[in-house]
Amino acid sequence: MRLPPSGSRNLENDGGGIGLFRSEFLYLNCDDYPTEDYQFEAYKKVLSDMGGKEVVIRTLDIGADKMIEYFHLPHEENPALGNRALRICLNRPEIFKTQLRALYRASAFGRLSIMFPMVTSVWEVREAKKMCELVKKELTAEGIPFSDEVDVGIMIETPAAAILSDRLAKEVDFFSIGTNDLTQYTLACDRQNNDLGRFFNAHHPAVLRLIKMACDNAHKEGIWCGICGELGADLELTELFLSIGLDELSVSPRAVLPLRQKVRETQVRVVREKLLAELLSDKNEL
Ligand code: PEP
Ligand code: MG
Repeated sequence: MRLPPSGSRNLENDGGGIGLFRSEFLYLNCDDYPTEDYQFEAYKKVLSDMGGKEVVIRTLDIGADKMIEYFHLPHEENPALGNRALRICLNRPEIFKTQLRALYRASAFGRLSIMFPMVTSVWEVREAKKMCELVKKELTAEGIPFSDEVDVGIMIETPAAAILSDRLAKEVDFFSIGTNDLTQYTLACDRQNNDLGRFFNAHHPAVLRLIKMACDNAHKEGIWCGICGELGADLELTELFLSIGLDELSVSPRAVLPLRQKVRETQVRVVREKLLAELLSDKNEL
């Protein structure tokens, strides 16, 4: 089986690490469930290639727009609100455990962080973390090495997660905001539907307020908060994101250099008050 691409394009563009490694592409590349060893080799490669820079690997995020035949997921009338991402992992623990074992084994070869997608409740995070603990116990008993410095974080991509971010921040090491889904779920606008046009507005103040809320709550608990959705590369919002205090913007390799230039040009202290006032108004509404 061919291993998926590693982080070389990221390094060419001098990225600070990988803020979102979509592990589902490993599963999409296969005709059957990828084995623990196959996944281990893929994660090990990207971690080794990144030479000690942080690599945030998101656990399986399928369902909704990403369907995989061999999962035999039942047809759903409303798949974006259905059985997807972490929900599948918690309902099918054998799949989740295989992935987590591969991830922890690979953690011995670089700086790994693990991130859970599509969180809506505290109990989901606790259950996912319990599985991490079980996997670590197993590996220890088997004498398989792994790093004990793996951070565990969650995506904030549902309004529930943003609203509960004060509670969720006590459970994890970081937040990464998935603005693609956060916009979809906040505005009740299907991200796949091109006919929605101006109704799908990622600059909507409701979305921006949720971003600020999650970031503020993360900082209150002393954890970092970034953005890993498309909005992170939107240069019109860079000043605002810096004013809010976001710690990381994760973008595709080709967007790294323009974004870095924009960040370097931005005088955060000057814009902070003005932009935060705008954020709390409805100026950004259409
Ligand atoms: C997001 O929802 O913003 C995100 C980064 O995840 P994906 O686009 O893969 O759903
Ligand atoms: Mg998403």
